[in-house]
Amino acid sequence: MRKMNFSAGPSVLPLEVLEEIRDQIVDYKGKGLSMIEASHRGGMFEEMYDECLSLFCKLLGIPDGYDVYFLGGGATLQFTMIPMNFLTPDKCADYAKTGTWSNKAASDAMKLGRVNVFFDDKEAGYTHLPDPKTIKPSPDSAYVYLCANETIGGIEWKDFPDTGDVPLIADMSSDIFSRPVDVSRFGMIYGGVQKNLGPAGATFIIMRHDMLDRRNANLTAYMDYALHAKDRGLYNTPPVFSIWAVKLVLEWISRNGGVEGMDRRAQEKSDLVYSVIDSSPFFRSPVDKAVRSRMNVVFRLPNEELEAQFLKEASAEGMMGLKGHRSVGGLRASLYNALPLEDVQALAAFMKEFERKNA
Ligand SMILES: *Cc1c(COP(=O)(O)O)cnc(C)c1O
Repeated sequence: MRKMNFSAGPSVLPLEVLEEIRDQIVDYKGKGLSMIEASHRGGMFEEMYDECLSLFCKLLGIPDGYDVYFLGGGATLQFTMIPMNFLTPDKCADYAKTGTWSNKAASDAMKLGRVNVFFDDKEAGYTHLPDPKTIKPSPDSAYVYLCANETIGGIEWKDFPDTGDVPLIADMSSDIFSRPVDVSRFGMIYGGVQKNLGPAGATFIIMRHDMLDRRNANLTAYMDYALHAKDRGLYNTPPVFSIWAVKLVLEWISRNGGVEGMDRRAQEKSDLVYSVIDSSPFFRSPVDKAVRSRMNVVFRLPNEELEAQFLKEASAEGMMGLKGHRSVGGLRASLYNALPLEDVQALAAFMKEFERKNA
C-alpha cells in the first residue's frame, strides 16, 4: 500500500506519473533506449524537452518575451545567481524577510552587494506578511525580492506588490502551478521542481528577456543567465530525469483541469484541514489567517508530547511527513498538487478522532 505522503519536499508525485516512468524507463516509446541514457544533444531528448517547455508555458500562460528553461543546483543556487547577475555596484536590492527561505536568499545577497530589508517579521516568528499595496522599491533598487510561499512557516502571499519599473523576483518553489499567476508582473520567477512539479534535480527559470540587459559584467559561465537563456538551459548537461518527470507531471496537470484545476484542488484540500484546525482550540495555527498557505499547513497541538503521539499514530495509519521542520517544530501537512483529496480527507478525519480521544 502506498503511504499518504504529506512531506514538504521531495514530495508526493501522481501515481499515474510513477507508473508511466516505470513503463517507459527501460525502453522509451519503443526506441530501444531509456530517456535517461539518451544524449541531451540528441533528438529524443530535445523533442521531449521542447514539449515540456511549451506545455509549461501554455499551462502557466507565460506571455511572449520570457525565457523559460531548467537549471541544476536547486532553488538555493538562485539565491547566489540572482544578486550576482542583477545586484550591480550602483544599486541596492529590496528583500522581504518572511521566513527561512527568504532569509537565506537575503543573506546570500548581502555577501554580494547592498541589500535593503523592507520587511522582517522575525519578532513575531514569521507569521505575517506586509500589505503588498504599501510596498515601494528603494529609489536605487535593482529588484524587489520575495518568497511567494514560505514552505517551512506555512505563509503565502495572496497578492503581489506593484513595483513599477523595478523588476519583481519571486521564489515560487512550493506554490508554482497551484494557482494562476500573472507572469507579466514579474521580472523573474523560479523554483526547485521537487515540491509541486517533479522529482528533485531541476530548477525552473522564468525570466523576462530584457532582464539580461541589466546584468553585471564578467560573470563566469554557469552564473550567467544570458548564456542559459541562449541555450534554453542546455549550456551544460541538464537534469534529464527530473525534466522528463516534470513533463509527465505537466501532462497530468493538463488532464486535471490545468492551473485552474489545481487551484480548485488546493482550495478544497486546504479548507478541509484548516476547518478542523479552526473548529477547536485543541488545534492552533500560528499563522495570520489572511496569509495561511494552502500548500503547507502548519499547526500545533496543546503540547509537544501530544504532537509526538500524533505523529506516531498518524504513521501507524500510513500518514507520513507530518512533522514540522526541525527549525520550528510542531506539525505540518504539505498538500501539494499531486496529493489525492482522499488522503486529505483521511487526515482531517484522523485529526478529529485524535482530538476526541485526547482533548
Ligand atoms: C525547498 C525550497 C527551497 C530550496 O530548494 P533546493 O532545491 O533544496 O535548493 C527554496 N525555496 C523554497 C520556497 C523552498 O520550498
